[in-house]
Amino acid sequence: MIIILLGPPGAGKGTQAARIMAEHGLVQLSTGDMLRAAVAAGTEVGKKAKEFMNSGKLVTDEIVIGIIADRIEEDDCKQGFLLDGFPRTVAQAEALDALLKEKDLKVDAVVEMKVDDESLVDRITGRYTCAECNQGYHDTNLKPQKAGVCDSCGSTNFTRRADDNRETVVSRLATYHTQTAPLLPFYSKQGVLRTVDGMADIDDVAVQINDVLNKL
Ligand code: AMP
Repeated sequence: MIIILLGPPGAGKGTQAARIMAEHGLVQLSTGDMLRAAVAAGTEVGKKAKEFMNSGKLVTDEIVIGIIADRIEEDDCKQGFLLDGFPRTVAQAEALDALLKEKDLKVDAVVEMKVDDESLVDRITGRYTCAECNQGYHDTNLKPQKAGVCDSCGSTNFTRRADDNRETVVSRLATYHTQTAPLLPFYSKQGVLRTVDGMADIDDVAVQINDVLNKL
């Protein structure tokens, strides 16, 4: 099964991807995570990507298509995968279709997580993760049960993304509307687009997404 989670930054793609991975046994391929790892490791790709990421702009199609082309060759992708944050432009979507066609595969479903723009700035500027196990939290909506201690692993180290600040979020939202939203008609024409209400609470959204996946 090849699934794409599509939605603006802060829609909850990463949170839902983690659940889908656990329930459906699909590997999560997040280009954002891969690029952050490349930046942290100081690789050539990381050096090229850093400035785009810090200003809320998209990294070039060439770089991200290259990353995904290599990644889907790995063994753990043989049973299918869940794309989170890719594709983000029509050129990326066309490149993905071409890569899949070579393997006689196609995208099975694109799950659009629909969320109001107004709620996204708060969602993003308030979010943080456990530095050890990556569990996600939020300053007001999703606090750890014991302040300062991760519910999942007990760590007291937390981290915030460098691009989760107000100015960059505004730029990332504008980028979403101009460059990524055109993917909605692109996938609608292919008959694979499904929309869920991303404003619902986390468990509800998970139920909606499971409904979509169980019908495939
Ligand atoms: P994300 O973690 O998905 O919010 O991505 C963080 C940042 O990484 C984005 O704001 C972009 O700068 C970059 N990025 C991630 N995925 C892509 C992609 N598919 N195309 C271009 N840039 C990307």
